[in-house]
Amino acid sequence: MMLYIHLPFCKQKCRYCAFCSGVHSYETMRRYVDRLIALIGHHLQDKTLRTIYIGGGTPGVLPLDLWEKLLGVLLPYTDTVEEFTVELNPESTTSQLLRQLKAGGVNRLSFGVQSLSDRELSAVGRLHTADKALSALKLAKVHGFDNISADLIYALPEQTPKSFSNSVSTLLDAGITHLSCYNLQLEEGTELFERQDEFSFPDEEQQMEMYDTLLRLTKQAGFVHYEISNFCRPDKRALHNSGYWTREDYLGLGISAHSKLGEKRCSFAEDISEFIDKKDFSFDEVEQLSESDIREEQIMLGLRTDSGVPLGLVDKSKAEHFVSMGLGTIQGDRFVLNDRGFMLSNTIIAELI
Ligand code: SF4
Repeated sequence: MMLYIHLPFCKQKCRYCAFCSGVHSYETMRRYVDRLIALIGHHLQDKTLRTIYIGGGTPGVLPLDLWEKLLGVLLPYTDTVEEFTVELNPESTTSQLLRQLKAGGVNRLSFGVQSLSDRELSAVGRLHTADKALSALKLAKVHGFDNISADLIYALPEQTPKSFSNSVSTLLDAGITHLSCYNLQLEEGTELFERQDEFSFPDEEQQMEMYDTLLRLTKQAGFVHYEISNFCRPDKRALHNSGYWTREDYLGLGISAHSKLGEKRCSFAEDISEFIDKKDFSFDEVEQLSESDIREEQIMLGLRTDSGVPLGLVDKSKAEHFVSMGLGTIQGDRFVLNDRGFMLSNTIIAELI
């Protein structure tokens, strides 16, 4: 079983952010952690955990005394845990926090770097600078973390193929072991969506150039492109996220967190007061997946990865057609997309479902 914990706290809202997160008082954070601890006690009991992932929000915003409480409750489960990841933002990374995470069994950090251009970082309202991001990565290493992931975004306002290339190569040189790179989504309701006319965004051709640069630089650095948006050193695949893609069971605790328990999808609602004040341990929504839901998920998730999908799950002649177009390969009894296929994955997946 895998465990995901959502800490929806941030120092301020980034301009592009549509995640379930916000600025909250100490008291709200304290009560939220108490509620998480009650849910952990109820839902985990004697379950064995393989991975833990604490994401956000900005988990580093949680005060140290609340970290101590949360990690203390999780500690008995860490004996069996192969990967324990915490997401951090550079500006809230301190020696004290890193020491505490290390003592709590955390063995992987995922940094929200997003860019190493101060101009781009400021355009999207991030609180850190490129220097701060690089010094946070260094500090993590000083504290003994050797499995470090970083997130980057491409198609940011003010970004150019050159600045993107610099962000990727500098990060790879900084010794990260895993890189996640996502295309900026301009979502309605965010500040950036409302103010998009004030910025210049890279056009489609430039975005293609950035994607090619990403493939080239990660390959040169010996990284494996093992999922559409994810690259890693060969022995550093993200175990937790890989579990999502192979449809392992996971329990997600916190506002808006989802779980997959057997073939049931369960989730908590987004309202933080409702979450804190709720008197029982039930999920707010439970959905039983049908056979066709399960097949769709297997195809959608599998084709995003370098394991692909069993041929038995899709129309073999269609898969062979995509192979003849140079978009994938047949490996044994599986159909696997290549880098070109990943770029057209939405269309391919829609054809195969
Ligand atoms: S730090 Fe992350 S979760 Fe928080 S506002 Fe920025 S993008 Fe959203």
